[in-house]
Amino acid sequence: MKTFDFRRAVSVDDAIRSVVETGGSYLAGGTNLVDLMKNGVLQPSALVDVRRLGLTSVVSTDTGGVRIGAGVTNSALANHPLIRRQYPVLSHAILSGATTQLRNMATVGGNLLQRTRCPYFMQTEFDRCNKRMAGSGCAAFDGFNREHALFGGSEQCVATNPSDMAVALAILDAVVHVQGPDGARSIPIADFFTLPGDAPDRENCLEPAELITAVELPPSAFAAHSWYLKLRDRHSYAFALVSAAVGVELIDGVIVSAAVALGGVAPRPWRVPAAEAALIGRRPEDAVLRRAGEQAMAGARPLSQNAFKVQLGRSAVHRALARALGTGGEARP
Ligand code: SF4
Repeated sequence: MKTFDFRRAVSVDDAIRSVVETGGSYLAGGTNLVDLMKNGVLQPSALVDVRRLGLTSVVSTDTGGVRIGAGVTNSALANHPLIRRQYPVLSHAILSGATTQLRNMATVGGNLLQRTRCPYFMQTEFDRCNKRMAGSGCAAFDGFNREHALFGGSEQCVATNPSDMAVALAILDAVVHVQGPDGARSIPIADFFTLPGDAPDRENCLEPAELITAVELPPSAFAAHSWYLKLRDRHSYAFALVSAAVGVELIDGVIVSAAVALGGVAPRPWRVPAAEAALIGRRPEDAVLRRAGEQAMAGARPLSQNAFKVQLGRSAVHRALARALGTGGEARP
């Protein structure tokens, strides 16, 4: 690891000023950033510690939603009574990721900014990775790509976003609040992550020195019927091959609103309106849920090693919907 400057910010303004002055990076839980620094993937000139800015509250909003400070740990959020009661799919998604120790350190803001776990990105021994070194190529195309994207990739990069939390936030229509040198702004989660296109080094729409300060959730109609299903190589401490976050609102036995998002298959949480349309206005019969799974994976573009994820995705959506509606047998964690 290379030497770097270290500053402990005492306020949001102080943190932003420090990053502008040093050109460094914000440090929260450090569970991903420090790993990348140890591997030599990232070499920031400075770290600005943002763990003491008071961004650690979870509070109800006037509109009946919840505002979550960016510094809230993943453990605290997953176990918070408001989240467990009003947004169980978020709690469920967070608890399916990493380990207890990591969740105790990792923060909401950091979770949104974690980098892909593509092995060619994570290890500097590999010399072809457009995300790490612009113009060097993409080793995944003719190499190990079973974990890579089916949707949203480009000729430059087919890496996936690793966050479980973000997939749940996608169906909850979260809004990300940020503050930077030019002031504050609010970004719908649907617009927060970017696709690689010709610039795979960029993964979100944050401008230089912008700091995530909070994530806000509007009131949700899905508290009674939602689920996060994560399919992976091991039962714990593994990233999703495919995951599905689903939420359904039922009135008189008919689905009146629905949200479906996939994880592990795209460079960002992949919301699938076609699957949602296949549900709305229908009774939740098994054939309808199965059809939603098929719609979720329509248009998938598998690579040489990951065609198996197409069927996995269909099953994930079907099973998640069944469990959300109480027809599956799995208990929540
Ligand atoms: Fe790098 Fe993206 Fe290709 Fe992985 S998929 S090697 S991160 S360019």
